[in-house]
Amino acid sequence: MSGIAYETVIGLEVHVELSTLTKVFCGCPTEFGAEENTHCCPVCTGMPGALPVINKKAVEYAVLAGLATHCEINRYSKMDRKNYFYPDLPKAYQISQYDLPLCKSGFLEIETESGETKKIRLNRIHLEEDAGKLVHAPNHSGSLLDMNRCGVPLLEIVTEPDMRSAQEARSFLESIKKIMEYIQISDCKMEEGSMRCDVNLSVRPASSDALGIRTETKNLNSFRSITRVIESETARQVQLLEQGVPVVQATLHWDEDAGETSVLRLKEEAQDYRYFPDPDLAPIHVDDAWFAHIQSFLPELPEARRKRFIEQYKLPADAAALLTSDAALADYYEAAAETSQSNLTACHWITGELLRLLKEKEVTVSDSPIGPGALGQLIQFIDRGAISGSQAKEVFDIMASTGESPESIIRSRSLVQISDSGQLEEIAARVIQNNPKSVGDYLAGKEKAIGFLVGQMMKESKGKANPKLAGEILTRLMNPS
Ligand SMILES: [Zn+2]
Repeated sequence: MSGIAYETVIGLEVHVELSTLTKVFCGCPTEFGAEENTHCCPVCTGMPGALPVINKKAVEYAVLAGLATHCEINRYSKMDRKNYFYPDLPKAYQISQYDLPLCKSGFLEIETESGETKKIRLNRIHLEEDAGKLVHAPNHSGSLLDMNRCGVPLLEIVTEPDMRSAQEARSFLESIKKIMEYIQISDCKMEEGSMRCDVNLSVRPASSDALGIRTETKNLNSFRSITRVIESETARQVQLLEQGVPVVQATLHWDEDAGETSVLRLKEEAQDYRYFPDPDLAPIHVDDAWFAHIQSFLPELPEARRKRFIEQYKLPADAAALLTSDAALADYYEAAAETSQSNLTACHWITGELLRLLKEKEVTVSDSPIGPGALGQLIQFIDRGAISGSQAKEVFDIMASTGESPESIIRSRSLVQISDSGQLEEIAARVIQNNPKSVGDYLAGKEKAIGFLVGQMMKESKGKANPKLAGEILTRLMNPS
């Protein structure tokens, strides 16, 4: 080892499948998981003479993605042919965008490991079509082609080389995923391939400003693979430089099982693709009226919502971040807070019991067995002191399994907490009489003995005594003034 410190420089190309109902240039459905080659037509299978027609919704989604990531929108844009051959691309060209992408020069803010905010610049976001899928048969007996994915609309989000670690790359991807989900243009399911990522990576001496030679590792579809690629490719390039061997610019394939990269193809440049404007598609002109229409779909974004939750509901910062990490969860919180009229209790129950329940049932918040209105009602009972904390948990569990309303559960199971002081005094008197030793301890200054006595009152009342009142009454009865 030479002792030189190296710095990793990372840029990402993120592919996001848009959740339009139909493909980008034909009317075939985009639905995932259909029987092979059933969602195809002459256009998306590249039959000669078939004519593409652009999906207006796909253009709107791309513009929306640009608006949500601080991009400039090119009001005049066009589709280009990117020529290359691969068996999953029947036309032998992909319709993409070259010099006039729909969106350019944006940025996103991420949090670094040291907790600072860092700007990651976006070079561009463009619209293109997805390719089909090769399914490799076992024992190398051949490959099969499924063209259902051909022509599914895809966004390519290209960053500048602004990331310096796997943590920063991950943080960026999480942020992109969250934004896409907020603006509802993609489900970003990495396991179904609707969000995939290419990692461009180079290393350089930490003191240098010049970029090193980079490699591009294609088609990573999990946070784990992305982290592993960044670590392994950094180590490989540093080792080469240490040995005085130059890094070769190449496109790499990541083998998840072997945990290593292999070369797919050597250096390629844009000119190799012979881009030219697609003569079958008219240029895209986003005029003022259309632009304003798209803008009207832009919801409050995660960062703004997080800040609002802190200000409006007075939530702790970490709870606000957790609740706004998912648009549906944030909606749930706002609805529950409104019904319950108790911002903090609602926050407490959602970040605690509700998330635990969803995890246990393996469902998303949209499929929660307890709706926000019902949880809000339960919180009202708690805040009024009508039921105790442990009773509330019991009601919550019954709500989750039966779907009954909190009111009917509390009524049918007579779960009402005893807050009547006359009734509590009777129980307290009995407890004092039956536990002379603890009373003696308490009077001798052992404050802890009161906890035991409250426990006895809970037992006597079958858990229905209001514990706070029970403690107050015990103290009063044992210290007659
Ligand atoms: Zn089609």
